[in-house]
Amino acid sequence: MIYLDNSATTKIDPLVLEAMLPYLQEEYGNPSSKYYLLAENAKKAVSVAREQVAALIGCHPDEIIFTSGATESNNFIIKGIIDHYSSSSNLIITTKVEHPSVLETCNYLQTKEVKVNYLDVDNYGRINADQLHSLIKINKPVLVSAIWGNNEIGSLNPIKELATVCKQAGVFFHSDATQVIGKLPVNMTDIPGLCFLSLSAHKLCGPKGIGAAIIRKQSDEIYTKITPLLHGGGQENNYRSGTLAVHNIVGFGKAAEIAMKQLTDNQRKLLDLESYLSDILSSTLGDKVYFNHDNSDKIPGILSVQFKGVNNELLLKKLSPYAALSSGSACSSSKPSHVLSAIGMTSEEIRQTIRFSLSPHTLPSDLDFFKSLR
Ligand code: PMP
Repeated sequence: MIYLDNSATTKIDPLVLEAMLPYLQEEYGNPSSKYYLLAENAKKAVSVAREQVAALIGCHPDEIIFTSGATESNNFIIKGIIDHYSSSSNLIITTKVEHPSVLETCNYLQTKEVKVNYLDVDNYGRINADQLHSLIKINKPVLVSAIWGNNEIGSLNPIKELATVCKQAGVFFHSDATQVIGKLPVNMTDIPGLCFLSLSAHKLCGPKGIGAAIIRKQSDEIYTKITPLLHGGGQENNYRSGTLAVHNIVGFGKAAEIAMKQLTDNQRKLLDLESYLSDILSSTLGDKVYFNHDNSDKIPGILSVQFKGVNNELLLKKLSPYAALSSGSACSSSKPSHVLSAIGMTSEEIRQTIRFSLSPHTLPSDLDFFKSLR
């Protein structure tokens, strides 16, 4: 079977697994313990992983708070900011195409008297800096949260411009970069207004159950203030207490290191693969296929394709013995896609859409299977 659902999750890299195994076996020390070698080894392993993840996204290792994944990071950052600053403002600005872990967090906060403004997106799922600037001028929020690259259609927001608008207005800016890391260059140091980032390891051939929330320091010493997620022994700069999952953190670090080394090659491979697949679909099915995105400005390897006149669920079931695909996000697969609806697609068009998400490990010959589609 061909696996083409890499935006849902990826297969762990064998080198990542190999790096993790000692920390599930003989290296079982707690990195918060002191004086003996097992603890020191665990501490060292966590510190190396922190540097590997920091190198991938251009932040300082101390700015990384390891979490269980991007869902937790999104919840933590948005709730943590609102909790800490609610006396100054209780408005959040976000977009209509966020991951459910942002949208449902905002929905929850609305039940607690927080106000949320949802920015409309263009036909390709993007917001722009002018639109954000105009809205901020009318009503200053405490936080803007905008997804970097969309998990269903791959569209990219102009993060640097949005961050500049937020910085000039003195507003915190958060972005969910889960789908972008390892596929496109990310350098937080180049984007001074970007205060918070959410990441997840299992989208880049790392283990599940580990991710990170990045909280940028405002100066050498001062962290942006945000209410801690878990109170306890003070791990992760007091933001998320609890014994660290050393094996998962090591796996995340290794996956980040590999992704960093292979970034340019992988980008090239993904672009080649997606153009190979688009050509196959277009030449096999002609005008019965339509691509829902702007090919020049998106995450490489994500294709959102309408199969005209075909019910996507029936097609997915029919293809399931041969190809693993999804209609959109695995996180909200029972509901019609809010992302496709936000870009103006009708419910009929949404029911005809399938997401292909490729991996650098996908082979062109895997994609030849789609030549048999009629
Ligand atoms: N944000 C985006 C954009 C995602 O694609 C996902 C995973 N589907 C998440 C957040 C949630 O990540 P995790 O599975 O690590 O909680």
